[in-house]
Amino acid sequence: MSQYYLPSGMKHATLKQRKQFYAKEFSLQKVVEWFEGELGNTKFAVIIGRHTKIFPEKYKEDAWTTIIIDEYKDLEGIRKQILEFLPEAVYYDRNIYGANNRKLCQELAFDLDPENITCPIHGSLADKMKRQQGLSFCDVELELVKREAIELYNFLETRFSDLRVVYSGRGYHLHVLDEKAFALTTKERLDMAHQAKQAGFHIDEWVTSGEYRLIRLPYSLNGLVSRITLPLKKDELESFNPILDERCLPEFLSKEATF
Ligand SMILES: [Zn+2]
Repeated sequence: MSQYYLPSGMKHATLKQRKQFYAKEFSLQKVVEWFEGELGNTKFAVIIGRHTKIFPEKYKEDAWTTIIIDEYKDLEGIRKQILEFLPEAVYYDRNIYGANNRKLCQELAFDLDPENITCPIHGSLADKMKRQQGLSFCDVELELVKREAIELYNFLETRFSDLRVVYSGRGYHLHVLDEKAFALTTKERLDMAHQAKQAGFHIDEWVTSGEYRLIRLPYSLNGLVSRITLPLKKDELESFNPILDERCLPEFLSKEATF
């Protein structure tokens, strides 16, 4: 019995697969590029097994919680900690911190998830929640959420100039890197979230308002669906297919397919 239904080929990664990915495939070089070489005092975070219920036995007690990683020497040190926890998800903190851990500002982001899309087959989020399938999604929802990501990009482009779009494994994230976006107040972020919702976008308000400050780390493994979190160019979105695109398929899946 599973509470999840997922598009074909998408499934939870095992601990062995998570280990293989983070030991051999996870590209620290690409993570550095994402941060444009300046990691500063960025905080990272992991969730070991909240949704998948897959966790190393020794972390049974902590499998549900968010573990913040803010003490590390370099990215290799972060990889080591990830390999210790073997988490289902890795995030970074969008807050920019100054001295004494004081929050200076925050990267603005928008989160589009497929479960929020009303599906002709599976119904609304409320319908899915009733069946305890709040994290499930299907091919149709995956395609519809991509359409929304393209539209949201267009919507944001009229206000900002430095946008990035990332396939998150389930849906899409839009990151706004304009300097003025970092400086927005909480109220301004909330207003923007409301405007986006009024325009019909199924965004997660907590992410945009900044209340929820973590966002999935690009190039990390989404252990719910066994896909690599992948930054994309806007003009790639139209034809992007996360079921088949090799750039987001971890090696353990392609190896499996050759059996
Ligand atoms: Zn559906």
